Amino acid sequence: MPKNCPNCHVKLESHDHYFCSSCSAKLPPDLISPDSTSVRVKVFQPGLKQPRTLPKIPVFGKIAVQCLGVISLAALIYLVVTEYLMPNTERILFGS
Ligand SMILES: [Zn+2]
Repeated sequence: MPKNCPNCHVKLESHDHYFCSSCSAKLPPDLISPDSTSVRVKVFQPGLKQPRTLPKIPVFGKIAVQCLGVISLAALIYLVVTEYLMPNTERILFGS
């Protein structure tokens, strides 16, 4: 027998145990699902420290950082070579 939410009149599904998943209204006792006794509860014990984990950097972020590093290194090498090692290259090549 299909049951409807008394608040929004949407048909209640098998996962609607205590609340309506459409309007989140609390269901009256006669509409509470009979198999609602299988509620899983997660228990946290105080005092037990969870292992600390570093925030994960997405793969895209890692690749972006690596590309930025390679580009920065290439720019630094270019500047060193052109400004300090071959200061007269442009004058020799293009003559000015
Ligand atoms: Zn509802």
